[in-house]
Amino acid sequence: MAHGKVFLVGAGPGDAKLLTLKAVEVLREADVVVYDRLVSKEILEFAPEDAEKIYVGKSSEKNELSQEKINELLVNKALDGKKVVRLKGGDPFVFGRGGEEAEALADSEIVFEVVPGVTSAVAAPAYAGIPLTHRDYASSVAVVTGHQAADTKLIDWSRLAGSVDTIVVLMGVGSLESTATNLIEGGLSPNLPVAVIEWGTTEKQRSLIGTLGTIAEEVREKNVKPPAVIVIGEVVNLGSKLSWFKMLSR
Ligand code: SAH
Repeated sequence: MAHGKVFLVGAGPGDAKLLTLKAVEVLREADVVVYDRLVSKEILEFAPEDAEKIYVGKSSEKNELSQEKINELLVNKALDGKKVVRLKGGDPFVFGRGGEEAEALADSEIVFEVVPGVTSAVAAPAYAGIPLTHRDYASSVAVVTGHQAADTKLIDWSRLAGSVDTIVVLMGVGSLESTATNLIEGGLSPNLPVAVIEWGTTEKQRSLIGTLGTIAEEVREKNVKPPAVIVIGEVVNLGSKLSWFKMLSR
């Protein structure tokens, strides 16, 4: 039997309308869809009704499938001749371990394609009216993870603080206090504005604005939970002037 193929597909940040045309096209042809927690039901409906849909959860859940098992699943379904869509929130190559999945496929000589998605790192700030760059305030952006597992490459916060205008933190709610402390120790002003955007681009979107010195406390008080994108830098000040999504929805 001819081998199948795996599509590593970005499902976008939440709002199903931010899917790419290509994502919809490959979903419509899928035999198997392997998806994560942050992928909405609405998006799964683009796949044929009789396609096999496999939920693989998220690492913080009990019924998770380990990354190794997910890799195996993708390889085995492709070896069975299936057209497999691996749907990941946002963009598959931005903190989604899509790179590891692609490596596993390459190692097993499985044919694959990557379908980029709209990453929450850009879309959640956009929906909160925050441009990540701006001629007057920011010429550089870094996207970093707040979740520093023992086996990940560590972030040098003081170097980051000194070298980049806008810092976007994903998976950063739990560690926000230490992130803020590290950045202040690294030389950033405690008065630098910070936005936290929870459930960006969805009906549940909520954003909170504070400063490096105050934001951890505010997030605790307002009970902000993941998924949330944190934006640190002068560009955050534009959010109050440009918050179009809030104005539309309320
Ligand atoms: N590949 C994804 C990121 C996966 S890591 C992407 O490109 O968007 C998961 C993190 O993404 C979450 O902890 C959160 O920081 C962020 N995230 C994903 N969807 C989000 C949303 N709708 N609103 C805010 N943050 C989101």
